[in-house]
Amino acid sequence: MKRSVLVAAIATIVAACGGVGDTTTTAGPATTAGPTTTGAPVTTTADELVVGVSWNNYNEERWAKTDEPNIVAALDAAGAKYISSDAGSSAEQQLADVENLISQGADALIILAQDGTAILPAVTAALEQGIPVIAYDRLIEDPGALYITFDNVGVGRLQAEVIFGLVPQGNYAIIKGNSADANADFLRAGYEEVIGGAVTAGAITIVCETYTDNWLPDVAQTNMEQCLTQQNNAIDAVLSENDGMAGGVVAALEAQGMAGSIPVSGQDGDLAALNRVAIGTQSVSVWKDSRVLGKAAGEAAVALAQGTALADVAGVVQFTSPGGNNMTSILLAPLPITKDNLDVVVDAGWITVEELCQNVDAATAPAACAA
Ligand code: BGC
Repeated sequence: MKRSVLVAAIATIVAACGGVGDTTTTAGPATTAGPTTTGAPVTTTADELVVGVSWNNYNEERWAKTDEPNIVAALDAAGAKYISSDAGSSAEQQLADVENLISQGADALIILAQDGTAILPAVTAALEQGIPVIAYDRLIEDPGALYITFDNVGVGRLQAEVIFGLVPQGNYAIIKGNSADANADFLRAGYEEVIGGAVTAGAITIVCETYTDNWLPDVAQTNMEQCLTQQNNAIDAVLSENDGMAGGVVAALEAQGMAGSIPVSGQDGDLAALNRVAIGTQSVSVWKDSRVLGKAAGEAAVALAQGTALADVAGVVQFTSPGGNNMTSILLAPLPITKDNLDVVVDAGWITVEELCQNVDAATAPAACAA
């Protein structure tokens, strides 16, 4: 099973350049530069498993803060080594990164795909070499990969249920994520389940709907600004697919004096977003406990590298993908966090009361901040 014994990487060069190499078993860099395959030298013993993780947009809060440390902890517990790279939102770079992780001796790969189609040649190549692949959080249309994620249609449904509950009629703006990420359309499908009937009945009008390049908050802000301008600010609700983009949306609303009166959704449980929920400028952040996802992926990577068949990985179900593939999957359940259940994320040790309640007005403070 083990292919590589000694892997020499080039961290010294990176260190000399002030870079932040990350090919050790310790959690990733604290800086925003993210991990890189040009990290610290990796020396492995003959029977030590190496798991390579290909991130694509390490700048998103959750990956470094919760996903990565929990993958690393699971690998540590199994005595496996962690190596990683960040493609910086480039599908082309990610192809090279995966190749690199393989040549560094990865026995299993965990891939957060920038583009679920563009990455396919690298996945096929890995599988052909007997290297198992985990499609992490985002779909890769290859049934040979293990797909570990949350119920993403469910995330969309939960966001829409909160927003629709607050605004059953009116003008909606929909700010979707990156179009090459299947999750953007999964969430949109969840929205449809909730608001589709009201749209057909004419109670809701979707006045703006845009994908957002690489889920970038400033692009989302620009999309929202354009929508507000086009509609003369006649917007009643915003379905934003994640928290980072919700930050951009709320900034655009703030500039028009509308923040706090227009419901906005998000997902991830980003600290700033939960704080916005406490303040009242965001209505919901669908929380996906990515600590659990990271642990599941780390454990599955080790099991697969040790020869466990996809179907024998603990907790798998079958998921039929939009491309018609039967994906062996682990699908975790998301949870909507609103001002009424902020205590859940505090009690789970996800956020401190101090972080949650920063700048919250005492007069309107949710129960979680009332103490
Ligand atoms: C993930 C979200 C994340 C987004 C941007 C999606 O695929 O499911 O949790 O916010 O990518 O990184």
